Parts: sequence; structure tokens; C-alpha cells
Amino acid sequence: MLGKLTRWLRMMGHDTKYSTELSDVELLAIAKKEDRMLLTRDLALYQRATAKGIEAYYVEGNTEPERLAELSARFSIELFIDLTRSRCPKCNTNLASVPKKDIAGKVKQNTLIYYNEFWNCPHCGAVYWQGAHWTKIRSTLQEAKEKLGKKKEV
Ligand SMILES: [Zn+2]
Repeated sequence: MLGKLTRWLRMMGHDTKYSTELSDVELLAIAKKEDRMLLTRDLALYQRATAKGIEAYYVEGNTEPERLAELSARFSIELFIDLTRSRCPKCNTNLASVPKKDIAGKVKQNTLIYYNEFWNCPHCGAVYWQGAHWTKIRSTLQEAKEKLGKKKEV
């Protein structure tokens, strides 16, 4: 399952579809129709895709930093999050900057006091800001960059 990786890719601004409910046949049809790269941990699915001429990538890493590092190495993805370019991690819609007054009541009072920049998802309504959890996000990206550095040295 690559649900977490999907959220990372969306936060880094990449148009990413994810489903646990589609069959292999449906996944392959969507990848082909929408000209998408298929990312999978399923070797059989990866082989079916490449046999049909659908671009696919078999994700090897077991942790998020490992996976981010390998995708960055393979696809030159920048390991950086700029919320002005991010997509909603939940639904893949482009985020929009929102004034503080518009999210009053949607986040905790303390959040409104401590943070000034907010984004929301015009589709699902989720609100985002660079809060305390951002420390973890930065450290995961940092770890991924260090792994990427090691890959490049090899
Ligand atoms: Zn959303």
C-alpha cells in the first residue's frame, strides 16, 4: 500500500491518484488512458504494466524516506514542499491560500493565534498550516535527502 507515499507526492505538488478498491485491470486502464506513471509494490502488476507498454515503477523502499529518495533519484522529484504548489493530500485538488478570518471556527483557537498562513482545499474543505507536525515533515524530507545523497555517491 502506497497511501502515505501518495500524500507525500501530493504535498510536493504532483498529480497523484490512489485507490485500494480498483482491480489491476482498472488500474492499468486508468494509467494508460490518463497517461500516468503506475507506482506499485506489486511485482506482478508492475510486470503486467510494462508488458502492455504502460510506464510503471516498482517501489522498493520500505520506509517513507527510502521511497522518497528512490523516487527523487528516478524521476528528479524535488524533495521540497511549497504549500502554494501543493495538492490536497486527501483528495489531490490544488490547495488555495486562505485568509485567517475565513478559517475561524475550523481550527483550534490556539492555531489561529500562533500561525498566520493557511491553505485550504476547495474540494474537501481540509485546512492546512505549517504547525507542530511540520517538524516531522521536515525531518522525513531531510532523511530522504541524506539517503538520496548516498545514492548519488555510489
Ligand atoms: Zn481535499
